[in-house]
Amino acid sequence: MACNMRCKHCGSSCTDALPGELTTLEAFKFIDMCKDIGLKWISLSGGEPFVRPDLLLLMKYLERNDIPANILTNGWLITEPMVKELSNIRNIRVSISLDGPKNVHDRMRREGSFEKAIESYKLLKKYGMQTGCTTTLTKENLGNLDELYETLVNLNIDIWQFQLGLPMGNLEKNKNLLIEPSDLLKFIDFFHEKALEKKIRIYPADCIGYYGKKVDDMLKLAYGVENAPVWSGCNAGKHSFGLLHNGDIVGCTSIRDKKYVEGNIKERTLREIWEDPNSFSWNRKFDAKNLRGDCHDCKYAEKCLGGCANTRLTTNGTFNSENLYCTHNLFLKKERRGEKRKSLKGNELPKVSGGDGKIDISVDINAYGMVEPDHNKIGRTVDPFVNNQISRDNSGGNNFNFFNPHSKE
Ligand code: SF4
Ligand code: SF4
Repeated sequence: MACNMRCKHCGSSCTDALPGELTTLEAFKFIDMCKDIGLKWISLSGGEPFVRPDLLLLMKYLERNDIPANILTNGWLITEPMVKELSNIRNIRVSISLDGPKNVHDRMRREGSFEKAIESYKLLKKYGMQTGCTTTLTKENLGNLDELYETLVNLNIDIWQFQLGLPMGNLEKNKNLLIEPSDLLKFIDFFHEKALEKKIRIYPADCIGYYGKKVDDMLKLAYGVENAPVWSGCNAGKHSFGLLHNGDIVGCTSIRDKKYVEGNIKERTLREIWEDPNSFSWNRKFDAKNLRGDCHDCKYAEKCLGGCANTRLTTNGTFNSENLYCTHNLFLKKERRGEKRKSLKGNELPKVSGGDGKIDISVDINAYGMVEPDHNKIGRTVDPFVNNQISRDNSGGNNFNFFNPHSKE
């Protein structure tokens, strides 16, 4: 999809619009198909969604079909008239990507892009819209996110998501920017500490986890419930799918190789593709026994299925790879070297109180104790924003109710 930036860490190396991009009418038809299969929410990314001149029309059509939407943008093209119009549409969040303080962000993206993003946030706030921030973890922002945290808190941003920068797209050409698996612990310490301050909801993406106590704490705070969703395997083709610019359907938009395209909505309906027993077999039929390395012998493997499939694929070229960026995997390796840590159970689990500085957040191997996952709980299928909008009934009655400043209901 087209993009107005050429970021050093862009996972899709977007440039100009690609041939075959869906027309407005085709995009409407796709939204009808989403309604038909009961889609609960959608994320619009890119490229850059705001380069599409029909974005507003698409958002209105999503609203008409009761599909909450999260627009992921670099914020450069956001204007006041656009925000004014968007603010009249129910159930939208606009998430701007920020990579760190001004110097880091502008170096990764383009000169002036940090200031522009901040102006866009101010506009979104002026019109009472729900806002998010997405930060991709790289060597550039390792140990360098305090200032961004203060900025986001001062702007009263609703939710901050962090995700791994993985060796794909432009980042494959800029491998020096990739973090080491052990660097992830420093990021988790940082985000955990900030989450406990309860000034902003912090949400780890699919590629972060999976049963470590600190991630669990963050999820509890992000969802606003003790009984937070638990990781139960990659959702691609099981609970979610991706649409590419030309109507191709994939399990996950990060996994775009032709061999993982399950069909095209110009040729088959979404329902046909989704209900085809042969679709998404790379994930629907994935067997934990195929996992290699420390994932192979991990006691959580059957449910976890090795965490994020794209992390495994991009780091080692195969879905069968172990997940080197899983904190548990990291500690399994440490344990083999003779280092010990606790597994936390029941009343051993510290409560997430937050804000009082009483919780131990020291960088200690025991601080990463595992939370024994309860797989009867809801899976990480819906982000906290959407839990404002819908009632969940597939998990024994979990209803996550947040105050949603943008809800007009
Ligand atoms: S080591 Fe592998 S299987 Fe075990 S929790 Fe981590 S990603 Fe999942
Ligand atoms: S591969 Fe799976 S876990 Fe990873 S980002 Fe895609 S849907 Fe999420």
